Order: sequence, then structure tokens, then C-alpha cells
Amino acid sequence: MTSRSVVRVVNSNRLTEGEGFPIRRPFPISTFEDFDPFLMLDEVGPVEWPPGNALGAPDHPHRGFETISYVLSGEKLHEDSTGKTQIISAGDVQWMTAGAGIVHSEMPSPEFKATGGRAHSFQIWVNLPASHKHAKPGYQYVSSSDIPIAESNGISVKVIAGEVFGVAAKIGTHTPVWLQDWRVTAGASQTVLTPPEFNMALYVFEGAISVGEEQKTVLDGQMAVLGEGMNLSLQAEKESGRFLLLAGMPLNEPVARYGPFVMNTKDELIAAFEDYQAGRLGSIQR
Ligand code: MN
Repeated sequence: MTSRSVVRVVNSNRLTEGEGFPIRRPFPISTFEDFDPFLMLDEVGPVEWPPGNALGAPDHPHRGFETISYVLSGEKLHEDSTGKTQIISAGDVQWMTAGAGIVHSEMPSPEFKATGGRAHSFQIWVNLPASHKHAKPGYQYVSSSDIPIAESNGISVKVIAGEVFGVAAKIGTHTPVWLQDWRVTAGASQTVLTPPEFNMALYVFEGAISVGEEQKTVLDGQMAVLGEGMNLSLQAEKESGRFLLLAGMPLNEPVARYGPFVMNTKDELIAAFEDYQAGRLGSIQR
């Protein structure tokens, strides 16, 4: 049984997004653009906002894929053109299917903006297959206390999507996708069976993790892309580590992307812009 090796380690870029909030982005960047079926991973913050200063991403459209918000600290207010609003608090996850098209806003909640404090979250984009790019827009929301937790020998996993150690996520996905928040305590090691047909990567955002039989060290802010294999070997040595595991069945379809739209062809991208400019993706009623 072969173990997945680290085929490359990518250092994240420090950028700003939305109204100007700071992010670390390991993917996509000029040196690492393709990781089917994922489209983007942003670590937002952590940033300490003074009262009244917190920034977000006001009204903007999406079509053709899914956006996931996973909040570690702070509080976001989601509003969208289907008329839904949602407060996303620390530990909560919102898995939004933009599908045929949606306009949403992702702002600090009024309460969080007023008090200020630490904001830390993830924004992940997952592609939809051509057959689901025009799915009905909407979202799945799971509060922190309802996210299943899998535990084994010094490892604790919040199972946002997929399954591990016999624990399955509540979120349903259009194609097989795993998204999980792993904590490995110092001294723990484990080998986990993984679907061999999945692409797989992990992004470390606290401490460090040793990965694969060669025990390649992956540090805070680095994304390790894993090769093919039947299982994943992990170890935390002197310090504990925490990472997001991103894995999924590749779609193997053409990707045409520009800004907030991700389609299969350039013509479909043009149609998305025309539909948005004509107001056919709707607007947020306030
Ligand atoms: Mn968005």
C-alpha cells in the first residue's frame, strides 16, 4: 500500500481582498494555479480590528461554483439575492452553491464591527461540474456545535465535508469533496486511508506537520500538494500542528475563470457578465 508523498510545497502570498482585509493565499498564485476540483483557498487574517474598522466584501456576484466560509474568530453577516441572511459565528461553516448565479455580501456583523476584535476565517472555492453549473443557488449552514468531530490517537478533526475515522460530514457536496480542519498534537502520528482517485493537499495554519513516509516538514502558511497513493501519513513532532485538508475527485473539465465567475468556456463567461450587468443574477433587497 503506497503512501502519498509531498510533491511540492507552496508558500502563500500575502495580499488584500474585498474592501482591503489582509489574506494569505497559497492558491491560486502564479506558481500554483491548478488544483482540481478546488479553485481558491484564502486564509483571512488573523487580524485585530479596532472598534469600527473591520472590513468585508460588499455585494458581488458568483456563478458556476461553490464558495465556503469557515470562521475561526469574529463574526460575519451574509446577505444574498435569494433573500436570505445568515450570521456566521466562530466555528461555523457556510457552504454556498452559487450555481446559476447569486449576489451576496460577506461583511463583519454590525455587532462585531462595533466592538472590533480578532477576525480569522477561511474562504474556499470549489468548482462545480458542467452538469451542475446552473444549479439552484442557495447554501448549507452548520453551526460550530453541529460540525461532526472525529478523534483518534491525539488527532482531532472537524469534518466539514467528506469523512474520516468513520465520522461523516453533514454537508452534502455535488461531487466527492473533503474539507476538514485537523489538529495533531505534538508527538502524535497516524496513517489514514484516503480515496486513491482524489487529488489532495493540506494547508498548515498553526505550528508544523510532517507529511508522508519521508516526513517532509510543512510549516505555518505553507500548502503541501500530495501525490498519488492509498493513504496519508502524518506526524507532529516537537510542536502541534493544525491544517485544512482539501481533497476531492478531479472534474477533468475545461476551466474558464474571470473574477467571480468560473465556467467551462469563454462564451459562458461572457454570458455570465452580461447576465450580471443586466441584473439577471438579482440584487440584495435591504
Ligand atoms: Mn463571495
